[in-house]
Amino acid sequence: MIRPRFIYLPFPYQDELLYSVLARYCSRSNQRPHKLACLIFDKCFVILRADLPCALSAVARKTKPTWGMTAETILKELTLFPFYEPFLPKPVRDNRMHALLLGPCRCNIGTKAYRVKSPIFLRLCVKCAESDREELAETYWRRVHQLPGVIVCPQHGTPLVSTLARIQPGRTECVDASSATFGNTEPLDNLDIEIIQMIAMRCKDVLFGKKNEWDGKTSATDYRDAALKRGIQRLPGICSPNLFVEKFLAHYGAPLLTKLGMLGAEGKAPWLRNMFQNNSKQIFHPIEHILVQLYLESLPEVASAYPFGLGPWMCPNPYATHTEKYPIQKLSIRSRQDKTYYGRAKCSCGFTFTTHGTERDNPRMPVVEQISSYGCTRYLYAQKLLRGGSSTDQIAKILKVNPWYLQCILRAGSRKCEDPRGKILKAREEWLDLLKQDPECRVTVARKKHCGLYQFLRKYDRDWLLCQKVPHNAHIDWQKRDVEWSNLIATTMKTLGQGVAKTTIARVAGLNLRIFNQFGKLPLCEQAFNKAKHCGKRRQNDEK
Ligand SMILES: [Zn+2]
Ligand SMILES: [Zn+2]
Repeated sequence: MIRPRFIYLPFPYQDELLYSVLARYCSRSNQRPHKLACLIFDKCFVILRADLPCALSAVARKTKPTWGMTAETILKELTLFPFYEPFLPKPVRDNRMHALLLGPCRCNIGTKAYRVKSPIFLRLCVKCAESDREELAETYWRRVHQLPGVIVCPQHGTPLVSTLARIQPGRTECVDASSATFGNTEPLDNLDIEIIQMIAMRCKDVLFGKKNEWDGKTSATDYRDAALKRGIQRLPGICSPNLFVEKFLAHYGAPLLTKLGMLGAEGKAPWLRNMFQNNSKQIFHPIEHILVQLYLESLPEVASAYPFGLGPWMCPNPYATHTEKYPIQKLSIRSRQDKTYYGRAKCSCGFTFTTHGTERDNPRMPVVEQISSYGCTRYLYAQKLLRGGSSTDQIAKILKVNPWYLQCILRAGSRKCEDPRGKILKAREEWLDLLKQDPECRVTVARKKHCGLYQFLRKYDRDWLLCQKVPHNAHIDWQKRDVEWSNLIATTMKTLGQGVAKTTIARVAGLNLRIFNQFGKLPLCEQAFNKAKHCGKRRQNDEK
């Protein structure tokens, strides 16, 4: 038998769906769609989806003599996958791509999990179809017309016409666009045609992989920064998602958002607030991203997202010496009840302070407002002066504190800032003693006895503490257990008689079924169970 090679398969037109090419081939060669789909997808049963067909590796293999396209190219140029791709987290993207290339027929990109409804029927633009018929003597299904969120033709601005051909049919069907029956097309009513066309054009750009300013910047942080720059803020540097939601809803209007299926109960859009919250698990629909991006683009940039600059900053602590020039990496912005804002930072030296801005001449040096802590730096500085022979009065003057307060600093410092290494060694010994007191060396038991010691080691010597943990099950005497359990199994087998399933024996003996995975440590038990198997076989043979 000569294997079919699809040499008469037509070449895809610009922006044509794989489904559409196959539909044209079917109607030209008068073939049954089911037979063709099975041959080309190399399966005995296929329901051909128009938007995201699977098993594209098989298609690439079968169409190679005619098209010469790889499976990846088919996925990129003949399906809607590139519309979803840029907004999927990398692991999800790879997983879905793998499934679409090699996976089963009924693979899903997760479109059903989205709030936004995808169109049910294939759509076309009457003007595009007209010009196709003049140029090509036929028309075809364009990818861009099937994108969720696209209501008008991006090229002509005319409303798309819905047909009776389903995007995800219940059975194998391949409807040629040239002979499709028109269905009901919803009127546009009073929707803002300019906004609708802009959305359609952006959807098309995404599908074709056109780069823009949002390329790779679709995280909550990116949107927060963009919103802050456009003045959507409660206070400088503090974004207001509520304000954004309000303005967004007013900009697009409820009729459009309802039509796109983006409004929930009571006309609210809870997903919109979530777009400003970092959550790697939450995936948003491309159209949700596109609408947020288009709205942000429509606003002028009026402010900086970072009122104290981008950082990093210098350390304003006079008692610390740093090897780095800019040791402060983060300056978080906080608000007060009186609706003023301030910055708060903690340096690697332990210096913790609030600030209301940076120096005019040096935008990397924060102006200190209030100091919460010097860490150990002030104590160590005072100690250095003491060792240098200065009197406490002199040191108090240098540090600009009362002499009695200097004593407090020295007392607290010797408690807090002394090198903890000596203490740690002592604590380690104590901890090992505690562990030894329990026959199974359980950490939980030792911790209950002396919680403070555990906390101390956890803070200062975490790695060592975790190393001392006796691994789970390490205290079990497997040899002893093996003898006990194998005897138990033998007696159970005697009472149950021959030819009983192994699992039943284990259950009746009161053993966990996990035992079948532990034969490495329980060889006698394995032998005991094997006896049961042989007995069973012998009985079967006898019966024969
Ligand atoms: Zn058109
Ligand atoms: Zn510092």
